[in-house]
Amino acid sequence: MLQLAPLPYEKNALAPFISEETLNFHYDKHHTGYLNNLNKLIADTDYATATLEKIITDSHGKEGKVGIFNNAAQVWNHTFYWSSMKPNGGGKPSGALLKKINETWGGFDAFKSAFKEAGTTQFGSGWAWLVLKDGALSIMKTPNADLPMVHGAVALMTCDVWEHAYYLDYQNRRVDYIDTFLDSLVNWDFAAANYEENI
Ligand code: MN
Repeated sequence: MLQLAPLPYEKNALAPFISEETLNFHYDKHHTGYLNNLNKLIADTDYATATLEKIITDSHGKEGKVGIFNNAAQVWNHTFYWSSMKPNGGGKPSGALLKKINETWGGFDAFKSAFKEAGTTQFGSGWAWLVLKDGALSIMKTPNADLPMVHGAVALMTCDVWEHAYYLDYQNRRVDYIDTFLDSLVNWDFAAANYEENI
């Protein structure tokens, strides 16, 4: 049985930008639901004792394993998303990651615009990511449960753009949610640590 990773902060810690009510649903219902579904699907299979990463990479693209992949990837994506935010987040990264972002996009504001564009143009449900691939930074958008690790890229941080992530607080205004994510929530220390470990 895989276990649910604890939230790295209290459920009211991201307010007023993301409310406690949103996290009551998003963590307790959505994230927990994916984990419970996955544990049911892998019980008594070869995956029962596998790591989450192994289940994701092994089930990806395999006929008959779509449900396992979707639930496993969503468990991973949400754990990664919680760590991609923190109370009093936002601002800019420091050090090597900021330097690389400036080199890649020509400035931090240009990076923010490109990330916002990715998140707002992901049609329907999905994710916006800052990733490292072959030593280069890029922004990815993925639909549904899809994630960088099955595309040869290392995730540095992510923003969940499924409606359930923002609808209670922002209704249809996904762009306002992404602006708030970048200005007040994103955990650049987490992204920088992921960058340093993988560069
Ligand atoms: Mn979500």
